[in-house]
Amino acid sequence: MGTSRGVLVTLALAGLCACAAVPRIVELATTGDHRALRGRPAGARPSSPDKPPILYLALDGVGRDTLYALLREGKMPGLAKLLGGDHGTFPHAHFAERMLSTLPSSTMAAWVTTMSGKPPSEHGVTGNEYFVREGRLFACPAPVSFSSVAPTIAIYTESYLDNLSSVPTVYERMREKDPDLLVWVVMHEIYRGADKLLLARKTVLASAFASAVEKAVEKHLADKESMRVYKELDEGAIETVIADLRKKEVMPDVLTVYLSGTDLYAHVAEEGPDQARRTYLEKIVDPLYGRLAAALEEREALAGRWVVVGADHGHTGVMHDDTHALSKENEDSRALLSRAGFRVRPFKEKVLKDDPFSAVRAYGGAMAYVYLADRSGCAVDKDVCDWKKPPRYEEDVLAVAEAFHHNDQHGDVVARMQGALDMILVRRPRPYAEVDLPFEVYLGGGKTMAVDAWLKENPHPTYVAVGARLRDLAADVHGERAGDLLLLAHNGDRDAPDGRYYFAGLYHSWHGSPSKGDSELPFIVASSEHASASIGAWVERVLGDRPFQQKTTDVLLGLREGALPRRIPGNRSSSTP
Ligand SMILES: [Zn+2]
Repeated sequence: MGTSRGVLVTLALAGLCACAAVPRIVELATTGDHRALRGRPAGARPSSPDKPPILYLALDGVGRDTLYALLREGKMPGLAKLLGGDHGTFPHAHFAERMLSTLPSSTMAAWVTTMSGKPPSEHGVTGNEYFVREGRLFACPAPVSFSSVAPTIAIYTESYLDNLSSVPTVYERMREKDPDLLVWVVMHEIYRGADKLLLARKTVLASAFASAVEKAVEKHLADKESMRVYKELDEGAIETVIADLRKKEVMPDVLTVYLSGTDLYAHVAEEGPDQARRTYLEKIVDPLYGRLAAALEEREALAGRWVVVGADHGHTGVMHDDTHALSKENEDSRALLSRAGFRVRPFKEKVLKDDPFSAVRAYGGAMAYVYLADRSGCAVDKDVCDWKKPPRYEEDVLAVAEAFHHNDQHGDVVARMQGALDMILVRRPRPYAEVDLPFEVYLGGGKTMAVDAWLKENPHPTYVAVGARLRDLAADVHGERAGDLLLLAHNGDRDAPDGRYYFAGLYHSWHGSPSKGDSELPFIVASSEHASASIGAWVERVLGDRPFQQKTTDVLLGLREGALPRRIPGNRSSSTP
């Protein structure tokens, strides 16, 4: 184990040496696996125990069917214990059946949405990577079009993702009403407003993310070996929180515990995402939940605590080959954009200030974004484009839409991309500070059609709530960050991996599409003091007719504010007559 692990850590640090993050990481390594995020004003109470406490379990890449089946089959006794269930029955838990991810169904957009209650077009984080016109900035909390672990590490060392979001987090919103609130966040990417961030050991963190990068550059690890790396990451997270619980510190009012290994493993496992996730959840995640349950019980901190389980997105198996990965190596989209007369920004985090690019691409599995400059203002080779200005609709946006549409039909510029696209979405651009128009489907010849109308004419039975979720992504003040064109690959609409394309390096599974497989999320709300039916009635009312993942914030705020009246511990029930 020493050798491969050593190699991975070295690779991670080598990748990091080019950036300023290194000193911060060293600092973290020596100060331990915690970041104190805020001080308490003198005289403030150490916590706010009068309101119901919450444990929020956040899982990455776990679809609804997979998790619910494992629980009902009795294969996750550790999680069942946290939910007050036994042998596949859950008298104190509501299993919601309607929760959907935001679009794209991808980690960074999804978690910011979940933990803020606002959609991407409002909070501004539209994907794992995306372009910010007004800052001429390529934001990449989880790079897809190129390989680098530095930005992902910066999420933990420098609040990189928190700083990209322009709205308050659920913790900040709770604190408005409840200034003494004590919040611990374990490994989650979003933690603004919490008191303490708890992390797996830095070396473990670096090696896990480096391993994900390794896979992207195709130095294969066997399934067993990659599972071991991700297991160390999740184990490290749980061990950190258990150690703190045992230190007899004041119990947090809200404890968020995030495990990302299931997603990381599903992306790369040769056994395919469904089997990979079942195996990983049963063998790795569940025993860790069992240990967490025991540690909470030792502190008598489980009874009476709301336990909420959620996830960010599902998974869809893809072919691990050059035909289906529309990757950076192949540069398919560059050829099309160049042919259409644009200077294409290279796939990297930073370019020179005077780089004269006039087109930007951001990748994200089933979806890719294309951003265009108004090239009339930077027509000559070395002209730097003014990205604060929107592009022109006919001369820039529709010209590029036609290039992609034509190639999709005929394959005459990039043969490999013929027939790869399900939808090319465009809208008339607005200045970046204004509310953006919703996307429409480009039909060729300069014509477009509303998304819902197009889907009526071209049924996609595996897609769900496409129009509403695309508006959440693109039709508000930060909507331009979802691109002037959104390319949706054939992926979640296809039954078998050999018909699916994805914008990324080589993987065995990806996500991002509006399909049920990528979008249907588990959402469980449990408390030993309440019955399933009464929890369910309230949760379903909150989800309403837009059961999208931003409602998680409403549920967490509601629980904390006592929307379901707390019974007195010891079964002297106040709500039974
Ligand atoms: Zn993922």
